[in-house]
Amino acid sequence: MENNNNKITMEKIVSLARRRGYIFPSSEIYGGLSSCWDYGPLGVEIKRNVKNAWWQAMIHNRDDMVGLDTSIIMHPKVWEASGHVSGFSDPMVDCMDCKQRFRADHLTTENCPNCGGKLTQPRQFNLMFKTFIGPVEDQASIAYLRPETAQGIFVNFANVLNTTRKKLPFGIGQIGKSFRNEITTGNFIFRSREFEQMEIEFFVKPGEDETWFKYWLEERLNWFSSIGIKKENLKLRQHRKDELAHYAKDCYDIEYLFPMGWSELEGIANRADFDLKQHAHHSGNDLTFFDEQAKEHIVPFVIEPSSGVDRTVLAVLCDAYCEEPDKDEIRTVLKLHPSIAPYKVAVLPLSRKEPVVNVAHEVHSVLRKSFPTAYDDAQSIGRRYRRQDEIGTPYCVTIDFDTLEDNSVTVRDRDSMRQLRMPIDVLCQSIAAKLSGELFEVLPPGGKHWLGF
Ligand code: ATP
Repeated sequence: MENNNNKITMEKIVSLARRRGYIFPSSEIYGGLSSCWDYGPLGVEIKRNVKNAWWQAMIHNRDDMVGLDTSIIMHPKVWEASGHVSGFSDPMVDCMDCKQRFRADHLTTENCPNCGGKLTQPRQFNLMFKTFIGPVEDQASIAYLRPETAQGIFVNFANVLNTTRKKLPFGIGQIGKSFRNEITTGNFIFRSREFEQMEIEFFVKPGEDETWFKYWLEERLNWFSSIGIKKENLKLRQHRKDELAHYAKDCYDIEYLFPMGWSELEGIANRADFDLKQHAHHSGNDLTFFDEQAKEHIVPFVIEPSSGVDRTVLAVLCDAYCEEPDKDEIRTVLKLHPSIAPYKVAVLPLSRKEPVVNVAHEVHSVLRKSFPTAYDDAQSIGRRYRRQDEIGTPYCVTIDFDTLEDNSVTVRDRDSMRQLRMPIDVLCQSIAAKLSGELFEVLPPGGKHWLGF
């Protein structure tokens, strides 16, 4: 399937990610491990940028949010209280001919037996990874790798309340790894067994939940736009009544138009008071909030925007990927939002010899204090521009022989490919202004705008 106006296929994204060091198959020298992926030197940067953008917008920029980092292995009773031990399962069917296994509710969308074989009746398969704590492998030492980060937030509700003195409405956010023994995986990093989530539990007074639910739908859509994902490739899909968990009042998915079609990027649910009540009941602890005005204890309702880091990285890569004609060639460029691009700027000396190279090193060392900066002196300048385009570096700075005379450099804009000569003195300031989108202008004596890319 295609999306945007380019013919973007998953193969192209996987190939670029592999070729440029974004994402590698895990354990590749041993033949790889199905559905496990390693983030390479650029992948780790883009992933970190996605998480930082989320943390900045959802935690640091808000008065009503705090963060947490809870453990992956929790008390097994957590998963009994949450309903995961009894109910966190997907319906699984087997093909009687080719013996392949499928998720019954995904047969038409993600996978389909192409041998035409007969399928077994669906059976429920629990998705939690089991392990044992300590040296004895018996029933009493069973533990689970968390299948979501959310429960770490609920079980710390009272701790956070007591230590931060937050009042309703307020939220707790967490980023971390989760594990699900998915029946079928695939579509690159879209569905894997080990992945990372960015989750918020936002606690509100009962009765205010529907207003806050609408607020978070809007807020989260806006966040995806703020990291550069095009609005036309995002949509909200409300869950049908038969899709809703029994305790959920309402749920929407934010879907992205991935190469394989519209698929879930984030789920936003109104979970009512289910989780806190369950944990209060199973642990015997008071998980209420004391409302000073009404002088009563209340169990808050919860709005949960739950997002995947890996799916966001995939959406960002798909959305940024462009192939455009450039002279007689096709230029591949990742038009990443500057906040997400692994490198913000690249320094490209036109000679590897002194004194050009000395100036290039100086410029590099100044720029890298302010932004992640690449340095590339291998091959022709044309090939270097192509390389930086493919990894999504917004600006390239070329140092040439004229630089030695006029103390100026050429700055090339990734998207327009326009070039501008500017004095080294204003380089850092100008790039910072461009990256932050400020309308900042440095005027040279002649009055020409340096920032007129
Ligand atoms: P799906 O229906 O695709 O299995 P889900 O509805 O079970 O997803 P949630 O439990 O709502 O997913 O998890 C919240 C988010 O975590 C998802 O929107 C997705 O971004 C991410 N996520 C869930 N499972 C996976 C996975 N196996 N691989 C990568 N990301 C995942």
